[in-house]
Amino acid sequence: MERPWWGALLLLVYTALILLPLAVAALSRPLTDHGFIYELGRSFGLIGLALLALQFLLSARLHWVERPFGLDLLFGYHKAMAVLAIALIALHPVLLVLGGAGWGLLARLDLSWRIWLGKFALLLLLIQVFASIFRPQLRLGFERWRLLHNQATVIFGLAFIHARYTGGDFQEQAMRTLWWVMLGIAALSYGYHKLIRPSLLRRRAYRVAEVKQETHNVWTLRLQPPPGRPPFTYRPGQFHFLTLWRGQRGLPVEEHPFTISSSPAQDSFASTIKESGDFTATIGHTRPGDLVSLQGPYGRFTYTLHPDHTHLVFIAGGIGITPFISMLRHMRDTQADIDILLIYANRTEADIVFRSELDQIAAGGHPRLKVTHVLSHADGQWKGETGYVDRGTIERVVTDDLPRRMYYVCGPPPMMTQVISALKNLGIPSHRIAYERFSL
Ligand SMILES: Cc1cc2nc3c(=O)[nH]c(=O)nc-3n(C[C@H](O)[C@H](O)[C@H](O)COP(=O)(O)OP(=O)(O)OC[C@H]3O[C@@H](n4cnc5c(N)ncnc54)[C@H](O)[C@@H]3O)c2cc1C
Repeated sequence: MERPWWGALLLLVYTALILLPLAVAALSRPLTDHGFIYELGRSFGLIGLALLALQFLLSARLHWVERPFGLDLLFGYHKAMAVLAIALIALHPVLLVLGGAGWGLLARLDLSWRIWLGKFALLLLLIQVFASIFRPQLRLGFERWRLLHNQATVIFGLAFIHARYTGGDFQEQAMRTLWWVMLGIAALSYGYHKLIRPSLLRRRAYRVAEVKQETHNVWTLRLQPPPGRPPFTYRPGQFHFLTLWRGQRGLPVEEHPFTISSSPAQDSFASTIKESGDFTATIGHTRPGDLVSLQGPYGRFTYTLHPDHTHLVFIAGGIGITPFISMLRHMRDTQADIDILLIYANRTEADIVFRSELDQIAAGGHPRLKVTHVLSHADGQWKGETGYVDRGTIERVVTDDLPRRMYYVCGPPPMMTQVISALKNLGIPSHRIAYERFSL
């Protein structure tokens, strides 16, 4: 059930937790011999550490945290908070120096181990945030980046020990209690996310029931829950994280996000996957009977969250069709009275996924679906739209109600950028453009 106030409440609690160390410091030590700048430096350290502790909560993919925002927005926030934390933590010693702690804090080598621990934590944090922001430019593979990112526990541990043994804050009982609570939140979030939940999901693993080739490089895995268990409930268009346990055949065991391409109105439960990198290149080697852990559902890219909109435009590129086929199947199964124009872009005819099923749904009348295929590398026989989806394509296809429709976009990044900017140029307000990026 959607609770519109839940997101606002979470943000409020989050902000309160970040600022709580300052309040506790002010109440437990109201009088200070230090000046404003020194106290500001101390406060930056406290807020930075609180931000770091709560990063574990933000990234643990907890449903009650994710639901109001969607995982992409939540991870975007997690990244922004990492940058804020690093800025505050880097300024923390500088302000202490400017506030009277002495330049030796920055320049001398013969400092106590506690200070060096803090400096080392800051260096590791800088490396981690830099690697996250510039991952594409550094050509850092996702799995390597994830390995590096998992060192966040070490960074937080070092920062915590530094805070525990440096300065006077831990002398106060209230502050000590607060930091143990913060440490508890971080440890519980991390432990649940990395250890407890994966082992629970492994025990409740699904089985691959069918492996179906859709096109030359796209496969659908139909998945079956363990005996006696229904598949988890989800909205059409949502995604899950999937781990295929095929290690005994020498295939990679990695966790990846994929849309659930089936309709929640049916028992069948599936994901449709394109060969696009190291892991997905092996997807065709999956066999019926293989075990698969599923974690989800996540995401807010679904028409069911916008029930007031009955005139929609779906714009899909390549494998970006998967959330749309889930929504269209669901509309067909529930006989939804919805009008949809689907613009579906591919390189060639051979790349079009679900072509005949889309035709069948269009012929069925519920939903009222019209499909326009656009090919960027069409051969001479092709009679339809060609090139890339742009403002002109949208104007040609959406001949009625263009300004009042709700738009959904999912495809490769360059296409999404072009389409979203075309929609904005056409005067479509942001709240009527929903999009899903296939990268987190
Ligand atoms: C919300 C969402 C829904 C998606 N739905 C589908 C779908 O229905 N069908 C489909 O074919 N693809 C889907 N993807 C894309 C799919 O996750 C990537 O293609 C796949 O993870 C690539 O892995 P690789 O090792 O084969 O390729 P690589 O070349 O290693 O990775 C290509 C890019 O995929 C992303 N990626 C890789 N591994 C992960 C990971 N473990 N977690 C998160 N991102 C990762 C990274 O941005 C990486 O740069 C979806 C992605 C997201 C975020």
